[in-house]
Amino acid sequence: TIGDLFDQTVERFPDHPALVARHQGIRLTYRQLQAEVNRCARALMQLGIQKGERVGIWAPNCAEWCITQFATAKIGAILVNINPAYRLHEVEYALTQSGCKALITAAAFKSSNYIEMLTSLAPELAGCAPGELRASRLPELRLIVQLGEQSVPGMLRWSELLAQAEAVSAEALAARQREQEFDDPINIQYTSGTTGYPKGATLSHHNILNNGYFVARLQGFTHEDRLCIPVPLYHCFGMVMGNLGCVTHGATMIYPAESFEPRAVLETVQEERCTALYGVPTMFIAELEHPDFEQFDLRSLRTGVMAGSPCPVEVMRKVIEKMHMKQVEICYGMTETSPVSTQTRLDDPLEKRVSTVGLVHPHLEIKIVDPASGKVVPVGQPGELCTRGYSVMLGYWNNREATAQAIDRARWMHTGDLAVMDADGYVNIVGRIKDMIIRGGENVYPREIEEFLYAHPKISDVQVIGVPDARYGEEIMAWIKLKPGEEATAEEIRAFCQGKIAHYKIPRYIKFVESFPMTVTGKIQKFVMREQAIQELG
Ligand code: ATP
Ligand code: MG
Repeated sequence: TIGDLFDQTVERFPDHPALVARHQGIRLTYRQLQAEVNRCARALMQLGIQKGERVGIWAPNCAEWCITQFATAKIGAILVNINPAYRLHEVEYALTQSGCKALITAAAFKSSNYIEMLTSLAPELAGCAPGELRASRLPELRLIVQLGEQSVPGMLRWSELLAQAEAVSAEALAARQREQEFDDPINIQYTSGTTGYPKGATLSHHNILNNGYFVARLQGFTHEDRLCIPVPLYHCFGMVMGNLGCVTHGATMIYPAESFEPRAVLETVQEERCTALYGVPTMFIAELEHPDFEQFDLRSLRTGVMAGSPCPVEVMRKVIEKMHMKQVEICYGMTETSPVSTQTRLDDPLEKRVSTVGLVHPHLEIKIVDPASGKVVPVGQPGELCTRGYSVMLGYWNNREATAQAIDRARWMHTGDLAVMDADGYVNIVGRIKDMIIRGGENVYPREIEEFLYAHPKISDVQVIGVPDARYGEEIMAWIKLKPGEEATAEEIRAFCQGKIAHYKIPRYIKFVESFPMTVTGKIQKFVMREQAIQELG
């Protein structure tokens, strides 16, 4: 279990740095982190949290997030990750859908005041003793712990939570830890909401512990690695690939800020001499394009992972050259699969490392099938990627129907992603089935056009979608973000495509934008782009 493995790492590397939360000025060795984790675990036991009960966390990246992650794992509570960008009705949905009994929450994040939102959701708080909440809109929630300084009626402060630990012995915690099985559910993670409403993937110790371990192992992690984690912890990229990847190897977790800021990342890498850096492609783009980029010394970097959405070849090349990340790898996966299914390897040829999502992970299977017939397609042909093995989630929380649609009777997870596998087993993600454009009977993969346009010297980022069209069924639309100070016209962009890509792939509509609609993980929501485009085109 996660708790047992955590304790083993502490035994091996007690005085090694475990966690640095730079924005909080917190630095903990493994032994110190363990003391905090155990205090939090015992306090949650004292407040009556049983095995299998849900504990939500609604906070941006911070040390308390990490402590809560390992504390809940030790007591067998199911951690429910709540996106810090959620607003009132989304939080209400996550809390009630998962049936959280306790919630650990930041006081505020960016422009949202969480305390105010929660107080309006549960006005009963004011009259309740902490731990005895009875709110009509959140019927299962009993306890709210807030990470702020001020005292709020009905809520406990973090320090007040930890003070409860005294009443529970270390033996009682150890006994609780021993009650757990490796395939017990330990985590509910809502998917990013890139294609629609987020679904709660339920994951076990076995699922995420192994995945975190293998992602880091394939990068050659040791306890000497210092990983910069600017990706959100509430998502598996942060909590599994980041936190569990480090803890399984005794490496150091380093949070540059509460949420992504390119300058904070560059500073952190330099000052903490980070050896590895994680990010979604848009984060790497923002770091590379930061006006002060050249001033930072990033030579301590060795490796890292780019993942989460299509990783443009041009961006990969720049990360290798300009950020010194010679061994940077691409991972592909999804929340439902803990998350990673394929990864490039240190010894892959450079070309494969920048242009594919790599080979299947150890102990997992993948296959590419025709979505209609379910039959495996020939090598080199696009089809739906399916995966099977330890990484596949237990199911969507309280949603049998969605689970049955995603996981078939032979336990294959159907990802909804279109992929191609070559004769050597390297996989290319072509796009999502939902994003594929069918123009005049021709299948068009947005990714191909995006990759082509990235090579345009004025273009910083580009996203291609299909919009309804009376004549062709769908037409192609490109949203283009230009590099700072550049100007361009739609004609110029189309002229650039002329003769280089098939005529039917040349975008009919071109829109210049400053940014794209995004999830907080930095993933571009094409369904929102499509809705906006449809409105604009009338
Ligand atoms: P939702 O399921 O709620 O619509 P989501 O699918 O974006 O959101 P996640 O589980 O966070 O939620 O993301 C997984 C998806 O991200 C994959 O299914 C795939 O489409 C995309 N993805 C992840 N890694 C890569 C990659 N390296 N290249 C291309 N696409 C990727
Ligand atoms: Mg998904």
